[in-house]
Amino acid sequence: MPHWSSLIREVPDFPKPRIVFKDITPVLADARGLADAIDAMAAPWRDAVPDAFVGIESRGFIFAAALAQALGAGFVPVRKPGKLPARTIASDYALEYGSDRLEMHADALPAGARVVLVDDVLATGGTLRAALSLAQRQGATVVGATVLVELPALAGRERWDAGIPLHVALQG
Ligand code: AMP
Repeated sequence: MPHWSSLIREVPDFPKPRIVFKDITPVLADARGLADAIDAMAAPWRDAVPDAFVGIESRGFIFAAALAQALGAGFVPVRKPGKLPARTIASDYALEYGSDRLEMHADALPAGARVVLVDDVLATGGTLRAALSLAQRQGATVVGATVLVELPALAGRERWDAGIPLHVALQG
């Protein structure tokens, strides 16, 4: 197990009863933990650096921006509704109760751009699939997705598009 994995703090019943929240802020606060976690997330993309890392609000921003800087790629944000100032496209996705929406600037990705999607935690996979749809609708080629922690019990991987590599730095 990497050293940084012991820094992930589990917070029971946050933000709702029965959810065990994976709090990655202690990893970010630790200089070696942060560097090693970014290294682990960057490793699969070093030999074929994408044009951009697409980070999902909000913790995905932290990792995607660090990966972009580390590998010499761009960073593109996928945001919650109403946050991006210019024209956007949107993708709705199901939550356990109800639905949610993510947006991306309509001109964020040139057609044919090679991108990697980034988030901190993969749970049911709905968030990552919504970001996939946004990038693909712009004509980008999604060459992969990378998350720090996968929660295998929630089976997000089984609902992921099998043709696109999904890299996880840690199974939790
Ligand atoms: P999902 O769409 O179900 O895969 O949920 C993934 C998104 O929700 C990510 O953006 C995570 O940051 C967040 N998330 C879901 N479950 C957890 C959890 N147990 N701990 C921390 N973040 C979570």
